[in-house]
Amino acid sequence: MRIATIGSGFSGLMASAVLSRHGHDVTIYEKNVYYGGRASSFSSDGFHFDKGPSWYWMPDIFEEAMQRLGSSTGEYYELKKLDPGFRVYFGEKDYIDIPAQFDELKAVFESIEPGAADRLDRFMEEAEVKYHLGVKQMAKFPSLSILEFVRIKVLRAALQMDLFKSVAKQVRSYFKNNRIQKIMEFPVLFLGASANKIPALYTMMNFAGLKQGTYYPSGGFKNVVNGFIEAARSNGVTFVPNAEVSGFNIHNNSINEVMFANGRISACDVVVGAADYAHVEKLLPPNKRNYSEEYWAKRTMAPSSLLFFVGVNKKLETLEHHNLFFHSDFDAHISEIYEHPKWPSDPLFYVCCPSKTDDTVAPSGSENLFFLMPIAPELNDTVAIRELYFEKLIKSFERITGLHISNNIVFHRSYCIKDFVSEYHALRGNAYGLANTLNQTAILKPTIRNKRIKNLFYTGQLTVPGPGVPPALLSGELVADYILNNYKMAKSI
Ligand SMILES: Cc1cc2nc3c(=O)[nH]c(=O)nc-3n(C[C@H](O)[C@H](O)[C@H](O)COP(=O)(O)OP(=O)(O)OC[C@H]3O[C@@H](n4cnc5c(N)ncnc54)[C@H](O)[C@@H]3O)c2cc1C
Repeated sequence: MRIATIGSGFSGLMASAVLSRHGHDVTIYEKNVYYGGRASSFSSDGFHFDKGPSWYWMPDIFEEAMQRLGSSTGEYYELKKLDPGFRVYFGEKDYIDIPAQFDELKAVFESIEPGAADRLDRFMEEAEVKYHLGVKQMAKFPSLSILEFVRIKVLRAALQMDLFKSVAKQVRSYFKNNRIQKIMEFPVLFLGASANKIPALYTMMNFAGLKQGTYYPSGGFKNVVNGFIEAARSNGVTFVPNAEVSGFNIHNNSINEVMFANGRISACDVVVGAADYAHVEKLLPPNKRNYSEEYWAKRTMAPSSLLFFVGVNKKLETLEHHNLFFHSDFDAHISEIYEHPKWPSDPLFYVCCPSKTDDTVAPSGSENLFFLMPIAPELNDTVAIRELYFEKLIKSFERITGLHISNNIVFHRSYCIKDFVSEYHALRGNAYGLANTLNQTAILKPTIRNKRIKNLFYTGQLTVPGPGVPPALLSGELVADYILNNYKMAKSI
């Protein structure tokens, strides 16, 4: 079968590699001249910047994905467990480091709130169960029907997952201290929605981030992308860059040709839409789409981001690799993202400094900094606003860390909503797809199969299981398996 995949992000890479491994003739068409989508990277002035993911969580998912492709992550990069995993700043030189060892983390919690160590143990026991059920079992369901969840074991498990309780409620039932609450709620803040809106099922992220730990792939996410590209190539996938899909020829409710913006046309038997779901839908005539414009307008998006890639010509000895700046009013910023979307008045933000761990990403004696400020999607994105926030963030960074960098900045580039739209056709300028709210989970997410076109399937962060690199890999794998089963074409490997 000739399979055309639209987009070379992690979901497209994984879906294509699995399908090709099963003997199909798979080609990935990518609109940009480079691959990796939101996880792509760039080099300038001796610095190498990853443009998207920096937190390598759930190493088991990456490894299982590579093994499915007959390879191993170790062939492409080495993993280093970061210690501390990350630092959380609460004010000027006032921070908590999150140790890599769980026993040490318990001691930190106990020193803040008596009894919190035992409660953290209990919280993590539950979170670990959720991780295994959620990530290892349910995330592999195509989520096309509630019947998939009806097997007794799975249903029982689903009920154990506190689907109707929020992460905030769950965290607050264990911990009273505001700092501990912020540490426990941060994973869902950056990747979904306010902790009040996210089902407690997602405390599995706490297990991933705080118990499994935070890893760094040598060379950064660039090497993770390259690893999956190589694994896909060695399984027979063909890559075509600079190939923007602009439409389809549809005959008898099947796509038989993919059309490109440059006028080229290519024949195919199956299409995997691995670009933003809503964009792939727009390539179809309205009567062949799964969802209307109104449907997409009503979805709750995960935040977009204002990013700054910054090169500094001095070493910042006291900074950590991952630094969260939770100095300002958490609730006010969250409300400015979700409830009353506007540019934040006193933003919290995140700074990654991969050159602390990896001397290949910055010239000697320099640091590579990646600033991320979560914002509501669809805000008015102008050069003037970006520069205003650049100054704001640098000032806050200097004040809180006591590290002065304004006179040492030798490179800086911004990235925001307009770039997400122009580079990836991102719906409403989103960075991380749809929020994982209860009514956007599992069968309530946009479905992986087009209901009117027999040979069009969707994968990626806007469908199941959701945003993040491990979910994108799982999404690619599950759509590939669905296609193989649907066409009864799986060969035993
Ligand atoms: C700033 C940022 C930080 C993040 N941090 C983390 C993190 O620390 N850890 C983590 O796990 N996840 C993180 N994520 C999320 C993670 O990067 C994504 O969930 C994941 O990479 C999405 O993969 P995807 O395959 O769904 O989509 P994408 O990576 O967006 O891939 C879609 C591809 O389709 C291409 N395309 C679009 N339209 C067309 C067309 N018409 N024709 C051909 N090609 C087309 C695009 O160019 C793109 O290459 C982050 C994301 C961002 C943006």
